[in-house]
Amino acid sequence: MTEAVTAPSSAAEHNPFIQMQRRFNIAADLLGLEKGLREILVTPSQEMTISIPVKLDNGQLRVFTGYRVQHSIARGPAKGGIRYSPDVNLDEVRALAAWMTWKCAVVNVPFGGGKGGVICDPRRMSIGEKERLTRRYTSGLLDLLGPERDVPAPDMNTGEREMAWIMDTYSLHRRSTCTAIVTGKPVGLGGSLGRTEATGLGVAFVVRESLKHVGLPATGCRVAIQGAGNVGSYAGLFLQEMGHRVVAISDMYGAILNSAGLDMPKVREWLKEHGRLEGFPGAEPISNAELLECECEVLIPAATEGQITSQNAERIQAKVIVEGANGPTTASADAILERRGVFVVPDILANAGGVTVSYFEWVQDRMGYFWDKQDVFDREERVLVEAFNSIAEAAQRYGTNARIGAYCVAMDRVAYCLKIRGIYA
Ligand code: NAD
Repeated sequence: MTEAVTAPSSAAEHNPFIQMQRRFNIAADLLGLEKGLREILVTPSQEMTISIPVKLDNGQLRVFTGYRVQHSIARGPAKGGIRYSPDVNLDEVRALAAWMTWKCAVVNVPFGGGKGGVICDPRRMSIGEKERLTRRYTSGLLDLLGPERDVPAPDMNTGEREMAWIMDTYSLHRRSTCTAIVTGKPVGLGGSLGRTEATGLGVAFVVRESLKHVGLPATGCRVAIQGAGNVGSYAGLFLQEMGHRVVAISDMYGAILNSAGLDMPKVREWLKEHGRLEGFPGAEPISNAELLECECEVLIPAATEGQITSQNAERIQAKVIVEGANGPTTASADAILERRGVFVVPDILANAGGVTVSYFEWVQDRMGYFWDKQDVFDREERVLVEAFNSIAEAAQRYGTNARIGAYCVAMDRVAYCLKIRGIYA
């Protein structure tokens, strides 16, 4: 029970905010949400655009533009990453912030959703310039941020180093060390063991549950992975450990295929040494487009948005798609895949292992007591299995697919909090 297949690829098919709204509207209809509540749920609660003056290494001053959007704080502090990119824009940040609200609600962690971005090209900036940019951006957001208000994390082109700068800047202004202000920090500075692997491991847990759900074997399935970064390469590693065969994997330069299975520890070593997959011994080079359409049982898009569209959904051979990336499938492709009987696990569940362990990091920071890695992994597994089951149950109850089932679970949880908190007038 989804919308009809719509016109082929268009600007709208690639606008993340429009994509989010289309899924939102279907779920809101199924939940029977009243108009006013829909409006609150879809409207970002707060948006900030700031100018960030930075002294460049050559002595010149340049003003960058930064955003922070808090989509919802109904269930807890806003949670979401900060991306540095030349083409980040407010619509994209809004969509990503809303996704975070739904993602946190799907795994039932007590966070709302937020996202940040700065228009810059980090590849053309020195470490010093990035540090000054990060610190000034943080100081511009001081009134918004806080461990009980808004807790950023890494996203595209930001990582542990930037999180350490944010934590330090915030702490200096507050005159006390506050590790819980950001997650994704280095271990030793309040970071959590297992956070690095968490998203890929979560994808592997979700693949395992999906195979069980659709009646495919628990071992020996062929897996194709788009994206050999943090998410894709760890997902491949854990799936190989679970007894599956990673037959194809790609990076932004192209893909490699070996139907007998690629050795994931060796693939990761090769990548570390060479920086790209090209030339990996014993594998055939194929294109990224071919990877998406190759023969496999499981496809994991773990690179970027808008990869499975109305243009290629018809040719995808996988029986199960588990979305490691955010927004890899467009709403038009959803309808085609559903008609063809492909089981799609949406991003807001499939890659939620990351935010789940970010939540564990925040909890550990606030306790000042840290868990061992196995403890983190065991807790993550429990959260994801429970979330998977609640989504499968919702999909059945509402007669819809897993994506809309996930939106129903998430929106219902956020709407419940809004209703019992009431509207302060
Ligand atoms: P990453 O930068 O470590 O890896 C991205 C990989 O995708 C690289 O191998 C890159 O070469 C490849 N890639 C980029 N563009 C591509 C393209 N057009 N075609 C094919 N390959 C391409 O990033 P990551 O942390 O692994 O994140 C991947 C995705 O997962 C993103 O959508 C991100 O938002 C999402 N995600 C990441 C996390 C996390 O914890 N890292 C959590 C949730 C969601």
